[in-house]
Amino acid sequence: MGVGHDSIRRFMSRERQSVSDSIAGTVIDSLEFARGAGVLDRSVGLDELPRLADLLGATAGRLSVRLEGWRDEQGKSWLQLAIAGDPVLCCQRCLGGVKFPLAIKSRLQLVAPGEDWPDDDLVDDSADAIAADKALVVLSLIEDEVLLALPIAPRHEQCESPQANADVHGSSPFAALAALNKH
Ligand SMILES: [Zn+2]
Repeated sequence: MGVGHDSIRRFMSRERQSVSDSIAGTVIDSLEFARGAGVLDRSVGLDELPRLADLLGATAGRLSVRLEGWRDEQGKSWLQLAIAGDPVLCCQRCLGGVKFPLAIKSRLQLVAPGEDWPDDDLVDDSADAIAADKALVVLSLIEDEVLLALPIAPRHEQCESPQANADVHGSSPFAALAALNKH
């Protein structure tokens, strides 16, 4: 199966379009990553995000991912995760594909063991706090953020449900489904 290089973000360098480009399987020591001002510019295939499978109309395509770490003046450790792409979701009305432009940028404060969790009232809305993990699976973090950003019931602005079609034409909605699933 050929990976569509066209769908990989243009800013990726040629070296980064290799097999090792995927961030799946990447595990970081989160505090070390922040301390060392780490930067990861990668991508992830939609088919590598199993928890998204139910929402997607198609698993072809990739999301670009950039993970950055730093420590601020107060010694707090941070991660910033930026995710972008155009996943095709499954329309809840006609079950066809509906493109959803995704542009996520989340800042996560790393809370080390024994360190106080930030007061909810004090943390600004654009930031979240997570436990500093010595073996942080970046892929689960990506899945969490993408799931939060996707609409619960994606729909085309205008489309007909297969049921409505079936009522008019007297055909089974399952036949309409089968037709839709054929690519
Ligand atoms: Zn639709």
